[in-house]
Amino acid sequence: MAVMITDLCINCNSCVDECPATAIVSADESPLANAEFTYVKPEKCIECVDCTVPKCVDVCPTEGAIVWDMPYTAAFNEYYMSGHENGTYSIRVHAKKGIFSPENQPRPFRDVIAMQERIAHNPVDL
Ligand code: SF4
Ligand code: SF4
Repeated sequence: MAVMITDLCINCNSCVDECPATAIVSADESPLANAEFTYVKPEKCIECVDCTVPKCVDVCPTEGAIVWDMPYTAAFNEYYMSGHENGTYSIRVHAKKGIFSPENQPRPFRDVIAMQERIAHNPVDL
């Protein structure tokens, strides 16, 4: 990933159209079962590596609604695949290419973010 949206989200959807990777969907469009909040697809999030700050955080009015998650890389394949199994995530499954797992489709991430920040799901601050 990635970043993750928490239950502090007020579903204003301001972030949805700002994402350069079209990784964010509203609760109504979320692939999660019984979704209550706007959702970030970790298999699409590129952590806005080419921007000064993540675009979603730049427009979000709610402090703490967007937090760090683990890099979407092969090292965290098990983390995301077990999250997919337990319903935390819903990773896209392509008819021919199979699941867009971190192993199959790794995404760029900000290596300046300390692993402790990601493990703790600390808020992404500007
Ligand atoms: S960090 Fe960037 S790519 Fe990831 S969800 Fe936010 S706006 Fe989209
Ligand atoms: S901008 Fe923030 S509060 Fe609004 S939907 Fe996105 S994460 Fe939720």
